[in-house]
Amino acid sequence: FPSRLPNVGTTIFTVMSALAAKHSAINLGQGFPDFSCDPDLIQMVNDAMLANHNQYPPMIGIEELRQGITQKLANLHGHQYHPDHEITITAGGTQAILTAVLSCVSPGDEVIIIEPAYDSYRPSIELAGGIPVAISLEVQRDDSGFVQSYQIPWVDLENAINTKTRLLIINTPNNPTGIVWTNSDLERLAHIIRDSNALILSDEVYEHMVFDGANHCSISSHPELVERSFVISSFGKTYHVTGWKVGYVAAPQAMMSEFRKVHQFNVFTVNSPMQYGIARYLNNPMHYLELPRFYQAKRDFFRQGLAETEFKLLPTPGTYFQCVDYSGLKNWQSNLNEEDFCIWLTTEIGVAAIPVSAFYQDKTESKVIRFCFAKKESTLSEAVKRLQGI
Ligand code: GLN
Repeated sequence: FPSRLPNVGTTIFTVMSALAAKHSAINLGQGFPDFSCDPDLIQMVNDAMLANHNQYPPMIGIEELRQGITQKLANLHGHQYHPDHEITITAGGTQAILTAVLSCVSPGDEVIIIEPAYDSYRPSIELAGGIPVAISLEVQRDDSGFVQSYQIPWVDLENAINTKTRLLIINTPNNPTGIVWTNSDLERLAHIIRDSNALILSDEVYEHMVFDGANHCSISSHPELVERSFVISSFGKTYHVTGWKVGYVAAPQAMMSEFRKVHQFNVFTVNSPMQYGIARYLNNPMHYLELPRFYQAKRDFFRQGLAETEFKLLPTPGTYFQCVDYSGLKNWQSNLNEEDFCIWLTTEIGVAAIPVSAFYQDKTESKVIRFCFAKKESTLSEAVKRLQGI
């Protein structure tokens, strides 16, 4: 049967979660918390249902939530979006990404992605008829050849931008590497992109997971870049409710009105009671301001445990993912490719992880895998124990 997406199979997250379930492994693969959200948030959604907020909300999302988001973005990043014209509530980050791409990319347009890249970007571009142009983060290795860190490939980025470039997709904090863009990175990007017609899609779903006292530098904080950018985020990530599938996109009015044309025929609107519940919960900024400390403690706990293994830890300045290089393991399995290594780790050691090669179209191998540490301390402890036993 002729396929619109001939190269797409089942996403690695689904595959690894199924394998973890089949082998009763601890699932540190797919990114989602294994602890419950704040009961107050559930109460607020319940209240909304009982108050009969159970019919279609406005296509663009309820006013209370759009206003709350506007206020949050103004407080954190100093940009005042218009809640009626520049914010739309989406069914999570992934729907926002697809809709944004469909709303601005025409057949033949080039769209730059930076690999390792989240797996929905490329198919979204292809569905729009666009041409994905992939460049890669520069991989820095230490003297022993272990992956040490990743850097933004500025020269490749500059070379990739041309008159056909319609969109550049960036992701900070970055899934899977955890790297975060700084203000000077944004400045450099502004300089590179200034004379082009390229728009930007900034996937910021891990915005509240930036550690060690650093700040999330949103594209919305840059007065020039914000005028050509979609900024996307996800309440699933922020409030530990990935199954609710509620997120948002912020963009200047002209871009947003195109976004909404697609959105209204894609999902039309997003479930009502969750929007009311989240809008109330968002009124208290502590609910997101406490997140860096909360996740940093998990990161540090997990890293301490991993330090007792032969895995080489990569830095994790942001996200709830810890990447490790397994090439130093004494076992013969260290010769396996990333996917096979993850399968072995899941089936034989009982801990599921995600191969970073899955974030590259050509499956670039660097012997690096990703663990998700958005887990209870007891889960992380048990996982560490198993990993220490390798
Ligand atoms: N964003 C999540 C991750 O990177 C997965 C989401 C999904 O399964 N589609 O693990």
